[in-house]
Amino acid sequence: MGPHVSSSPGHGSSSGDGVRHYSPIPYRRGSFDYEPSVLCQCGRKAGLWISWSNDNPGRRYLKCYNAHSGGCNFMGWFEGPVHKFVRGLLIDLRDTVWGLKRERVELKAALADAVVKMEQQKEEISALKVENEALKAANKASAQKSLMKTVLLIGLAVLAAAAAVFMRLG
Ligand SMILES: [Zn+2]
Repeated sequence: MGPHVSSSPGHGSSSGDGVRHYSPIPYRRGSFDYEPSVLCQCGRKAGLWISWSNDNPGRRYLKCYNAHSGGCNFMGWFEGPVHKFVRGLLIDLRDTVWGLKRERVELKAALADAVVKMEQQKEEISALKVENEALKAANKASAQKSLMKTVLLIGLAVLAAAAAVFMRLG
């Protein structure tokens, strides 16, 4: 089955809105693992890619490997158009995969943020613990001081009473 080099696949790699139509799934085979070779105008084996555009999802096309860096503009469909029903199905699957991938990126970012916040809170908690220990120690010291004061006052009172008793006796 030869390639249909007559019609252009358009830009399978980018859409009108500037979003790159990257493959939603990994390629099963390398872009050059096909036979027989089709050469582009540069004389090199053309790459075989899968289009993920809205018009031709899942349709393979041949393109100059260096198309974006000084190569030729050789392009051609490798097979006929995809059936309308399958086209819709592939677009839905493509969009679902892209949506899930976007969501995963967002969830990863949110998770990373949450981890950073948690680490900050951990640090705050350990700083508060240190502060709390210092306050406890200070409280204990001041309680001991006031106990000593009380003991001293009682001692003085006892001494005064004893002195009074001696005075009376004397
Ligand atoms: Zn070329």
